[in-house]
Amino acid sequence: MHRRKLYFVAALTILMIVGFMATSLTSYFVARDSLSENISEQMLPLTSDNIYSEIQRDLLRPILISSLMATDTFLQDWVVNGEEDPELIRNYLREIQQEYGTITSFFISEATRNYYHPDGIIKTVSADNLDDAWYFRVRAMREPYEINVDVDTADRNRLSIFINYRVLDSQRNYIGTTGVGLAVSAVTSLIETYQLRYGRNIYFIDREGNVALTQDLSGPAQRIQDRPGLGILATQILTTPSASLTYERVPGETVYLNSRLLPEFNWYLMVEEHNSAAEARIENTLLINIGISLGIMTMVLLVAHLTLQAYQGRLEEMATTDRLTGAANRHVFDAVFDNVQRGARRRGKQVTLVCIDIDHFKEVNDTFGHQAGDLVIRAVADVVRQNIRASDTLCRWGGEEFLLLLDDCSVEEAAERAETIRKAVKKQSVAYGREDIRVTLSCGVSQYRVGEELFSLIARVDAALYRAKHEGRDRVNIAT
Ligand code: GH3
Ligand code: MG
Ligand code: MG
Repeated sequence: MHRRKLYFVAALTILMIVGFMATSLTSYFVARDSLSENISEQMLPLTSDNIYSEIQRDLLRPILISSLMATDTFLQDWVVNGEEDPELIRNYLREIQQEYGTITSFFISEATRNYYHPDGIIKTVSADNLDDAWYFRVRAMREPYEINVDVDTADRNRLSIFINYRVLDSQRNYIGTTGVGLAVSAVTSLIETYQLRYGRNIYFIDREGNVALTQDLSGPAQRIQDRPGLGILATQILTTPSASLTYERVPGETVYLNSRLLPEFNWYLMVEEHNSAAEARIENTLLINIGISLGIMTMVLLVAHLTLQAYQGRLEEMATTDRLTGAANRHVFDAVFDNVQRGARRRGKQVTLVCIDIDHFKEVNDTFGHQAGDLVIRAVADVVRQNIRASDTLCRWGGEEFLLLLDDCSVEEAAERAETIRKAVKKQSVAYGREDIRVTLSCGVSQYRVGEELFSLIARVDAALYRAKHEGRDRVNIAT
């Protein structure tokens, strides 16, 4: 029984663990999947769209201005005519700067390598000067313009975004580079606004993977190829117009990344999200689910345990006691006797057995019926129980015959107790319908002899009972 209960509880536990785990983990993974899908398929592209349109608004104007400058016939004619009056170009650049509110405007002539600025010629660019490398890059470039983030030649403390536009003459020969510069801060504050609003990391990279523009430009220039977790994705990002990717910057922390090429700027806009907060919420939910499951499991196991215990108790009671009288059955009596006689042998205590039989019981059955007989048997058992100690054992030995095992009790005391019981039964009447049924008892008493077997003790007590019957019933007889 005990083993079976263990198996049952184990099976129940395993079933519940499997069930709860399956549902908790399924919903956890579904939630995670839909979270990452939501982030990479919807939220990040949407942010990217918004930023793109705002950046376009901010940057397309300077590109347009620079394009107008590059195709301005005044500028072309002035260069072709030998750059004669520098005051003219100075005024021209100053007007552009004032009209459009750019922080700078410039023209570098290929013929003289002069750097014209609203303040005049501020330098001559040279292939030997590393600061002028940008000019030679633009000069060799196939595209009509580039956007470059660089320190301002006129104000070396300021970082600016330059639109460098190639100027061609009517024969499409390269004659210089013109354009405007605008403050980086306008774009970086835009990035900052977006970062704050969406909690996302936003930056731009050029087509080689160099970080071109980010909120914090003071940091060291970086390449995405060198970023932890991102390096292996660099080729994929730089060869496709747009991509939705995930990577782990530190183990266990997923970063969702959306990249898209902005063709006007020749930059990639990178929008990243570290959704640790949302992930933590999902993980929390998993933990709560597991907690609830454990609670339910504990309760189910407790209920199962209590039910089994009650059931087991009932079974044990059914197996050990007589249903009619509640007295012990023979099986239990054997065990109790074993125990008592062992104690008697060890501690030298007296043990006495009393056999109780109802007199002329057949007549009760015959006169009042079997049901009445049952009632009488139960009434006799009740009287006996009222007159014995807790340490005594009452057993229903046969139909209307009881054995009473009295531990630590001399034969005289036992006879006295049997006498008390006999008198009590004799005095009482059992009501059955309108009838009052009265019975008497005959008792045999015999003391246990150390080392004696149960059957021998019973034989002696039976003999004593037989004598009591023989001598006229309604009496107690002590075995000789
Ligand atoms: P005596 O004084 O010699 O003991 O006479 P008696 O009629 O009591 O004889 P005996 O002890 O041999 O009779 C036992 C009778 O008890 C026989 C049987 O019909 C009846 N009996 C046995 N078990 C039950 C029971 O559970 N319920 C009822 N109603 N009768 C039972
Ligand atoms: Mg009898
Ligand atoms: Mg009998």
